[in-house]
Amino acid sequence: MPLLAEQIKTLTPQLIEWRRDLHLYAESGWVEFRTATRVAEALHNMGYQLAMGRDVVDAESRMGLPDSATLAKEYERARQQGAIEKWLPAFEGGFTGIVATLDTGRPGPTLGFRVDMDALDLNEQLDGSHRPFREGFASCNAGMMHACGHDAHTAIGLGVAQILKAHESELHGVIKLIFQPAEEGTRGARAMVAAGALDDVDYFTAIHIGVGVPTGTVICGSDNFMATTKFDVHFTGVAAHAGGKPEEGRNALLAAAQAAIGLHSIAPHSAGASRVNVGVMQAGTGRNVVPSGALLKVETRGESEAINSYVFERAQQVIAGAAAMYGAEVDIRLMGAATSSSLSPAWVDYLRQQASQVPGVQHAIDRIAAPAGSEDATLMMARVQERQGQASYMVFGTELSAGHHNEKFDFDEQVMALAVETLARVALAFPWQRGV
Ligand SMILES: [Zn+2]
Ligand SMILES: [Zn+2]
Repeated sequence: MPLLAEQIKTLTPQLIEWRRDLHLYAESGWVEFRTATRVAEALHNMGYQLAMGRDVVDAESRMGLPDSATLAKEYERARQQGAIEKWLPAFEGGFTGIVATLDTGRPGPTLGFRVDMDALDLNEQLDGSHRPFREGFASCNAGMMHACGHDAHTAIGLGVAQILKAHESELHGVIKLIFQPAEEGTRGARAMVAAGALDDVDYFTAIHIGVGVPTGTVICGSDNFMATTKFDVHFTGVAAHAGGKPEEGRNALLAAAQAAIGLHSIAPHSAGASRVNVGVMQAGTGRNVVPSGALLKVETRGESEAINSYVFERAQQVIAGAAAMYGAEVDIRLMGAATSSSLSPAWVDYLRQQASQVPGVQHAIDRIAAPAGSEDATLMMARVQERQGQASYMVFGTELSAGHHNEKFDFDEQVMALAVETLARVALAFPWQRGV
């Protein structure tokens, strides 16, 4: 496809410009207001049909949402930073998802691609050793930084949109580009699945750059994600004078401490790997007061959905038991969720065939054994597969200046062009008549 190669070359400076603009105005999960308006504007100008905000993000299924004061403050900040007014109201209140559709009007299946748009709650390194700072696109938003490459993902999504629109006459069926908020903490995908955004997708691909994969290598079926549940546990006891009337107190701190120890004592499962982590414990107000409030931030993981469910079930029993010991009330709030990934072999094969033809791709492989993390695109994959569709997760390798979620994270921007070319090929070479 010589024409495609030429178009990708022309597009590359634009990809870098998009990426650097998003990097400069990094926005964390559910407050990607400026980002979302920029994405909407670009897609609209290209001629895509847009569904966004509440139409593609189910309010009740959102997890780990900032409080309403923060949402309002960030909305105003986005406005000051050049969010496009015309699109802004659709996203107000933390509904920062977009689905762009290109319906060719010719019969054929729906191909869906998902990219994520959120930054991390992290301060970017602001000194000359870090390229984004040196070249003037380090985050101007304190406490928010694109340190996972989602700025690249968003730019890749826009690049794919532009290329496929230019080739519209060669396509059949429907192309659906999903721009997801709040992937970090696995908080956003569930809300888009619940809103039905995946319900007509027949072939689905989610992507990530980096994750330790070298430049020139493309993983076409990343399958090492763990199912996970992230939750906050609020213990409420009764405050009392620690010296004068301790028997009137109900000690929430001790309930939380007991729960933390108990959670880390949950037996592993013989069927596969599991994890539990109490990452935060906060409690108490003063030295001479029986603590009446405590908070735990906890996550469980499992190699399969069943194993994670087992750990989460046990966790709830442990927490209830610990609360009962101290006469405290307890409230568990779900903050994030993802499932394990199961790949569709024929689709992975097809993705590998296409990736292997892209210049710059030396190794297009099915999978690698890598340390387990979690990713909420797995919920989208599961939804597509429930409907007999096919799904996979691709990783585009690139050199990194520091690990993901590090304040000095950066990557080789050439990976964006390579990813766009691969995904464009996936659509352009698709056998519309027989499917994969
Ligand atoms: Zn990340
Ligand atoms: Zn990421």
